[in-house]
Amino acid sequence: MAITDSQPLCLLAVTEERREGGHSQPASPGCPSLLCGSPTAMESSEFRRRGREMVDYIADYLEGLEGRRVYPNVEPGYLRPLLPSCAPQEPDTFEEIMKDVERVIMPGVTHWHSPHFFAYFPTANSFPSLLADMLSGAIGCIGFSWAASPACTELETVMLDWLGKMLQLPAAFLAEDNSEGGGVIQGSASEATLMALLAARSRAIRRLQAAHPELTDAAIMEKLVAYFSDQAHSSVERATLIGGVKFKAIPSDDKFSMRGSALQEALRKDKAAGLIPFFVVATLGTTSCCSFDNLLELGPLCNKEDVWLHIDAAYAGSAFICPEFRHLLNGVEFADSFNFNPHKWLLVNFDCSAMWVRRRVDLIGTFKLDPVYLTHSHQDSGLITDYRHWQLPLGRRFRSLKMWFVFRMYGVTGLQAYIRKHVRLAREFESWVNQDPRFEVCAEVTLGLVCFRLKGSNKLNEVLLDRINSTGKIHLVPCLLRDKFVLRFAICSRTVESAHVRFAWGHIQALATSLLETWRE
Ligand SMILES: *Cc1c(COP(=O)(O)O)cnc(C)c1O
Repeated sequence: MAITDSQPLCLLAVTEERREGGHSQPASPGCPSLLCGSPTAMESSEFRRRGREMVDYIADYLEGLEGRRVYPNVEPGYLRPLLPSCAPQEPDTFEEIMKDVERVIMPGVTHWHSPHFFAYFPTANSFPSLLADMLSGAIGCIGFSWAASPACTELETVMLDWLGKMLQLPAAFLAEDNSEGGGVIQGSASEATLMALLAARSRAIRRLQAAHPELTDAAIMEKLVAYFSDQAHSSVERATLIGGVKFKAIPSDDKFSMRGSALQEALRKDKAAGLIPFFVVATLGTTSCCSFDNLLELGPLCNKEDVWLHIDAAYAGSAFICPEFRHLLNGVEFADSFNFNPHKWLLVNFDCSAMWVRRRVDLIGTFKLDPVYLTHSHQDSGLITDYRHWQLPLGRRFRSLKMWFVFRMYGVTGLQAYIRKHVRLAREFESWVNQDPRFEVCAEVTLGLVCFRLKGSNKLNEVLLDRINSTGKIHLVPCLLRDKFVLRFAICSRTVESAHVRFAWGHIQALATSLLETWRE
């Protein structure tokens, strides 16, 4: 090849290198970035090799989790001294980075997928989901409109119908047969609650202004009140703060359930004071103790009062795919929106929060803006969905792929078996706690969570939990039920077996024994 003056020097360099076999993959002709030798960090040939190595690393990590300390033994600020203070000027190698994963990262990881992890609620993890997420990253589309990637939008709509049918949701929530409802994947239950609240707020304002056109948005907003149980997740109260509306926490009953009578009383008082009830959140499976609000009482009341009913079943929702637990969802037919997190208990990795609305115009009407750069020729056909109107951000990942992989590779029976195994393990743990007279179970065990404590003071239980977590063999978090400090034992890991639960209980018993030997109130 003749070298001319006009040819850039970098092209010369790359050409030379290729002649010496420096590239195993032929560069595509005319690709400017390759020809200029601009840093690509990793060519696809190396990606193939590193990808296989990474898959091995991940499989080794997950298989070897039992041998790692579940709760890290590090102090705040541990990481900064382990890293340089600036990004490297020249590239590091993949080997160096992977070495640092073990040196810097792993010592500070709480291993959520360890079979010794019983804290919070589960977060889902499965091989089909991990692989689908990789593919989603590779396709890397941003599915804000149908045209921005039709498969991304359409698979999501179908997956939410599949999942809705697994839960036996009322047909009104499904998108098939051109109903008015439909499902969407949100990033989290918190976002779903916020979306529902904002949609309810718009609907309330529109309806009031239809009857009283003289009322301004601001005049209505300052009177709107949202309601939820004193057991609701903190994200619900947060949604009212973000949405700029008042709220009332309704006292739950002795089973930590919000009842119709308590809500009715609050609605009556507030209406008498000139306020406008507009939004109720019912929780199925509360975070503290997995209690269930009484949907069959709350639902008809909300419908009668023309108040939006949103259901937060973030954790428990996955269990409703089992016929024996489906009754816990009875009353969903009264709801305007329903949400749960497949990323908690349905083997689909974070983030994947499934939300259905009875009337999608309620959501879309809240946020619809169509700048020219986002419009496309199909959008007014009525047949397609532009999911950007259903959510807060514009951008969205191809998250339905991981649902599709998981649903197909487990099948509904596999998913049901998974839920049942976790419930069975929780029951086992509950029965052991009940057999030890030093302990008490503090709330009804319905699914995979057991709330328990040593009979005695809060201080005693705080010290017990502190010893459990500082020993690092298992990991638990507490909650407050009324004013009692309670330990939560949640069945979490995909790989947890009866032997792990038995080990955990034996460990807790031993720590309790040594604590009680020296304990003075
Ligand atoms: C976990 C949980 C949430 C929060 O879920 P995110 O998806 O993290 O926002 C909300 N409500 C309940 C009942 C939960 O258990």
